[in-house]
Amino acid sequence: MRLVFKFGGVSVSDGEKVRKVAGIVKRFHDEGNSLVVVVSAMQGVTNSLVDAAAHAGRSKKDHPRKFVDELVQRHMKAVDAAIQDKAIAERTKETILSRCQELRDILLGVAHIGELTPRSRDYIIGFGEKLSAPLLQGAIEDMGVKARALTGAEAGIVTDDHFGSAQPLMNVTTMHVRQNVEPLLEEETVVVISGFTAATQEGVQTTLGRGGSDFTASLIGASIRAEEVWVWKDVDGLMTANPKFVKGSKMIETISFAEAMELAHFGAEVIHPKALECAGKFQLPFRVKSLADPDSQGSLIVSEVKVKAGDVVKAITNIDDVDLITVSGAAMVGTPRLAAKVLQILTDEDIDVLMISQSSSEESITLAIPKEHGSTAQNALELALLGSKQVREVSIEAGLSIIAVVGAGMKGIPGVAARVFGTMAQEGVNIRAIAQGSSELNISFIVKKQDARKAVEALHGHFRLGE
Ligand code: ASP
Ligand code: MG
Repeated sequence: MRLVFKFGGVSVSDGEKVRKVAGIVKRFHDEGNSLVVVVSAMQGVTNSLVDAAAHAGRSKKDHPRKFVDELVQRHMKAVDAAIQDKAIAERTKETILSRCQELRDILLGVAHIGELTPRSRDYIIGFGEKLSAPLLQGAIEDMGVKARALTGAEAGIVTDDHFGSAQPLMNVTTMHVRQNVEPLLEEETVVVISGFTAATQEGVQTTLGRGGSDFTASLIGASIRAEEVWVWKDVDGLMTANPKFVKGSKMIETISFAEAMELAHFGAEVIHPKALECAGKFQLPFRVKSLADPDSQGSLIVSEVKVKAGDVVKAITNIDDVDLITVSGAAMVGTPRLAAKVLQILTDEDIDVLMISQSSSEESITLAIPKEHGSTAQNALELALLGSKQVREVSIEAGLSIIAVVGAGMKGIPGVAARVFGTMAQEGVNIRAIAQGSSELNISFIVKKQDARKAVEALHGHFRLGE
């Protein structure tokens, strides 16, 4: 089979893990599959690059040297643990060292000018993947399998110049990726591609947005018409509920892209929504595979899943630690621009809105926000809105959780919401806000954090998801 594998930062966080990943690659290569492997930066590296870029932008000239030294050490240690062959280890180290040298020069340059442009920032934050890919290439070669590392740009991913979250130009990308990758596959070389990174048509480096390596896997898979994309995780697959919460939770065997996307938005951060959207469009099946148990089938995500009668709900997910912000004022009634303004203010602050609900009297808008951004969001909204006559108050409530009930089978079936809320009433769980997307794939609502576990368990039982 022609397959794309994706390994995230957690699965390559040190040399031993890289070796384990290389072992999985060798195994499926030896079974006769053609493999492209998309890899993220080692865990934590992208975050540290984001910080390093910001420091440089503030003219901190001491930081780059120390920072890059630590990065070099971490990767050298990983090479030593992952690669036994001396020549391969040496060559890998050279590549990593020269890329780190380049990174140090760029950071110092930015620190001297004291200005970080979006373009230089993208160049800097993409380095993690440019280090992990040669490392994995070396580890695979060390097991006697031909491998070749390419950056996203070298693989042929072409984007617009929206730095920080660039959009791929699909037609050129498909053409280039096929040209660059297929000949290597034909000579049985495993192609290792740096996730997250790409370039504009002029060759300027871009990134696909945080968590974008999954998206890289979709783009490559769609371009080379892979049969499936396998996303390797340290979980068994997609689950009917958080296994830490619900003992009887089960692995989901098949699920549709639309359902998986709802799960991705609601805390089960298994695959990036952009990746799923792209895979859905190109009808490219995704499979979530377990690193601990490579023989298990995992969860398959496909375009169409036949809904069995009575099988209305697929999974119950929860996101803990959300704050609820309510913007209220009678003068908001019939002023549609306000909702747009509220969302724009939060977008400008880079704050993720997890859920929105508006009462039909339009007197208030309620937004669920991750706890760590709650007070920033409240401040920004107060600053921007309290002067306007429309808004009377921006209030905040902490210590909440979102529960989402997801399933394509709910569409057009009356009574699911009644069952959900009836179950909550029976358990004595109070509901603070409710939202249902018009896609009818999910019903989500907000409860006190201390009620979340009870709520998830009760719903999991009520919809018989463990059976
Ligand atoms: N390394 C990038 C990030 O941390 C991309 C990814 O991991 O998918 O956002
Ligand atoms: Mg990720």
